[in-house]
Amino acid sequence: ANTAARLLAALEATADGLLVLDQSGKITYVNHQFGELWRIPEGLSPDKDHDALTGFMASRVSDPDAFKRRLSEIRPDSGGETSDLLSLGDGRFLERKSRLVMRGKTVVGRVFSFSDVSEYKAKESRLALAAIVFSHAHEGIVITDGACKIVGVNATFCRVTGYTREEIIGQNPRILKSGRQGDDFYREMWARLAACGHWEGELWNRRKNGELYTERLSITAVPDAIGTFSHYIAILTDITELKRYQRQIERMAHYDALTGVPNRVLLADRLNSAIAQARRYSRHLALVYLDIDGFKEINDRHGYDTGNQLLITVAHRLRDTLREGGDTLARLGGDEFAVVISDLDTQMQYEPILTRLRDEVAAPIQVHDDSFRISASLGVTLFPRDDSNADTLLRHASQAMYQAKQAGKNCCRLFDPEKERQTLTHNKSLNRIAQALTQNQFALYFQPKVNMRTGAIVGAEALIRWQDPERGLVLPGEFLPSLKGSDLLTRLGDWVLDTALSQMAAWSGRGLDIAVSVNISARHLQRADFLPDLEQKLAAHPSVEPGRLELEILETEALEEIARIFSLMEDCQALGVRFSLDDFGTGYSSLACLRRLPANVLKIDQSFVRNMLSNSGDLAIVEAIIGLAAAFGRTVIAEGVETTEHGELLLRLGCDLAQGYGIARPMPAGELPAW
Ligand code: C2E
Ligand code: CA
Ligand code: CA
Repeated sequence: ANTAARLLAALEATADGLLVLDQSGKITYVNHQFGELWRIPEGLSPDKDHDALTGFMASRVSDPDAFKRRLSEIRPDSGGETSDLLSLGDGRFLERKSRLVMRGKTVVGRVFSFSDVSEYKAKESRLALAAIVFSHAHEGIVITDGACKIVGVNATFCRVTGYTREEIIGQNPRILKSGRQGDDFYREMWARLAACGHWEGELWNRRKNGELYTERLSITAVPDAIGTFSHYIAILTDITELKRYQRQIERMAHYDALTGVPNRVLLADRLNSAIAQARRYSRHLALVYLDIDGFKEINDRHGYDTGNQLLITVAHRLRDTLREGGDTLARLGGDEFAVVISDLDTQMQYEPILTRLRDEVAAPIQVHDDSFRISASLGVTLFPRDDSNADTLLRHASQAMYQAKQAGKNCCRLFDPEKERQTLTHNKSLNRIAQALTQNQFALYFQPKVNMRTGAIVGAEALIRWQDPERGLVLPGEFLPSLKGSDLLTRLGDWVLDTALSQMAAWSGRGLDIAVSVNISARHLQRADFLPDLEQKLAAHPSVEPGRLELEILETEALEEIARIFSLMEDCQALGVRFSLDDFGTGYSSLACLRRLPANVLKIDQSFVRNMLSNSGDLAIVEAIIGLAAAFGRTVIAEGVETTEHGELLLRLGCDLAQGYGIARPMPAGELPAW
């Protein structure tokens, strides 16, 4: 009995749940753990209520019928030992084992033992999941131990590297080394792994067959319980194709598809670094802009295919004639190319290279059955002579090329930075003047003309002034010369005419009917609509009698196109307007032309007047002009009369009319009536 009691105590203490059936299938024993595992309700007594218990148990498993059947299978032929897994409705898994109990050759019962294997099952399914990830991952995975010995690889890794599992397990990943990365690279990688347990980057490795490949690699160091790295996990992606694709795209972005030479983008790059080099080492560089002459005609006549072949041949010839590495040929598009010739000792060193380029273009080109002879127009700019950035250099070279085209093609022009600077300042000042005109910054001053004998005022000359808010009063000598030849000069002349007429009308209204002379450029006079315009302006100011308006035209300008100007002057005179020939004596009017001259007044140039007191030559000229005016029946007036002596001498010589600082300086319109 003692033995039985100890046995029973042992059974109660086991971790397994136990259930014993006798040979008739009746439950004879369950231990405490059984009740716990199955969570048997309090009131259910196993030895008394057999059916209720088995019914309860069946209700808790996922396949009740099979469960019941197994419970009743106690016959010897149903197998000595069984083992299976029950899944319970609450998510747990019970492992069920059974064994027949024999006495001699007779079956006396069966013992079932149940144990909770839920945790084990869960771990197992997690592992199964991890295994699926490992084997199916699109990335290659390598696991090494702390000493970098490979302990696991997946299928992708084998596919990427070409090694089988058997070959690679136990090896060091070093056998994949390509030699493309230096020791520094690996040193840094290990330093980073040691410092933060992770490294990520791209590197070159070598497959088993010797082929290089690029991989994106991410390594994680796995620390063990005491903090040293027990494993390294590396995940890698073969990006060789991606890289190739990237390179192709890069190539497309930097090279011309037709000829394979660099395109505009790469040219800008090369040019920029060539500029930097030239700056740093005080070297020169030349930028050549080359445009094939008559390319459009070839295209039109022989077709695009021939045109393309021609471009390819020219591009390759030009490229091959350049120093490898140093100089760059680029296709800018169409039939336009650019060449960067860098690292020159002197700026003139580009010339022989230019000659070679031109020779290459000029050599006959065979396309299919046709032989072509072509030429090119070239523009060159030199750095640092032309100290500009890449964009501007290219623009300057193309400007020079354009000049070569205009000069008849098949030649070369050099960009002139000095001339460009002048053009720029010129344009800038033109713009400022145009702006001043719209902003009403111009004004007319008036300088009286008098009869020195009678003291009467005979008129006033309108002289333009620029009231520049920045510079103050600007005299015409400062801004009119830059307008020479531009339309702005005639626009300004229109403004002067309008303003003078308005001023005369205003004075008329106050009883001051004074004659006003306006300086007019020959270019303005020759404008097609000058005459109708003048007519209209006069009509717009009916209070101004046309005879009181005098136009001053420079003798030098009038002589430039005598015939035309004379007839235009006559047309204006038909309206009643008078003319005076300004700065007379500085031109070379012949006596013949003086006779026909439609001017009413000769205005002796102030240089002769000013100097006549001291210079007998100038005095002779003044006397001669006065004589000529009398001979041809013209009025004569002297300008530049600065002193009384000047005036007295002029009176003695027979010139009564005068204008000059000695009489009055040019004054604002408002001051004239009082004067
Ligand atoms: P200009 O037609 O010979 O005008 C006479 C210039 O001599 C004026 O200079 C006047 O101020 C200056 N002057 C007058 N008396 C004396 C003097 O006693 N001594 C000295 N040293 N100079 C004297 P300004 O006003 O500077 O004009 C210069 C030139 O600009 C003018 O020479 C004329 O050719 C041109 N100009 C002025 N206004 C106009 C205009 O509205 N249209 C055009 N097309 N030209 C104008
Ligand atoms: Ca004048
Ligand atoms: Ca003058």
